[in-house]
Amino acid sequence: GTNGSILAVSDIHTYYGDSHILQGVSLEVRRGECTALLGRNGAGKTTTLRSIVGLTPARSGRIVFANQDISGWTTHRIVRLGLGYVPENRGIFSNLTVREHLMVAVWASGVSSQRLDQVLAIFPRISERMDNLGQQLSGGEQQMLSIARALLGEPDLLVLDEPSEGLAPIIVNEVSDTLARIKETGTSILLVEQNAEMALSLADSVTILSQGRVQFSGTPKELEEAPRISEAYLGVS
Ligand code: ATP
Repeated sequence: GTNGSILAVSDIHTYYGDSHILQGVSLEVRRGECTALLGRNGAGKTTTLRSIVGLTPARSGRIVFANQDISGWTTHRIVRLGLGYVPENRGIFSNLTVREHLMVAVWASGVSSQRLDQVLAIFPRISERMDNLGQQLSGGEQQMLSIARALLGEPDLLVLDEPSEGLAPIIVNEVSDTLARIKETGTSILLVEQNAEMALSLADSVTILSQGRVQFSGTPKELEEAPRISEAYLGVS
C-alpha cells in the first residue's frame, strides 16, 4: 500500500523531444528508508529523478509524494512540499562563498538560522570553510555543501544524483557515512548511484533500470541472491 511510502512513482513515461526515454518506470521509497536506483550510463536514472522533481515532467503515469499527487507540479512547489534535490552537477557557484550558498538557501526556504546551525553540525568540514569560494572547495566538500543546502528546508525526502561521482574512495566513505546519519534522523532517501557497493550499503530497497525500464526491484539481499541481474545490468560479477 502507499501508507508506508513517502514516494510512489507509477508507470511514468518521459520523453526528450521524440525520444521515448522512460518506458513505464515505477519505484517506491518507504518512509524513513533508502531506495537505491541503479543502472549503467544512459539507463535513465537522471531522467527518472528529473521527472520526479518536475524538471523534465513525465508525459504519463503518476507520482505521489507525501500523500499528494504531484504529477505536473512545478519544481518549486515540489521542493516546498518537502523534497530536497542534490543534482548531478552539485549546483555549486565558483564565485560564491560557502556562507553565501547557505544564506541564499536560508532566505529562499525561510528557515531559521537555528536550522542552519543544526545542519552545519552534520558537516564539520563545511563549517570550517564558510568563507571559502565554491571554486576553492574539493569535490567532496562541494558534494557536502550541496547536500547541506538541500537539507536546510528539512525535507522529508532527499533525492541525490550520483553523490560519489568523481570522489576518491575515502571521500565516498565520508559521503556514505553522512547519508547514513541523515537517514537515522528519519529522512527518507532516493539515491542514484554508479557505485553499487556504496548504494547497497545504505539501501533498504533497490530498483535497477536498463534502457528506460525497470529490470529489478527488491531488497539488497534479494539482489545478492540473483547474481545474474547484477552481471547483466550493473556490470559486476
Ligand atoms: P548517466 O549516469 O550517464 O547520467 P542515466 O542512467 O542517468 O545515465 P539519463 O541521463 O537519464 O541516464 O539518460 C537516459 C537516456 O536519455 C540516454 O540515452 C541519454 O542519451 C538520453 N538523454 C539524456 N538527456 C537528454 C537530453 N537532454 N536530450 C535528449 N536525450 C537525452
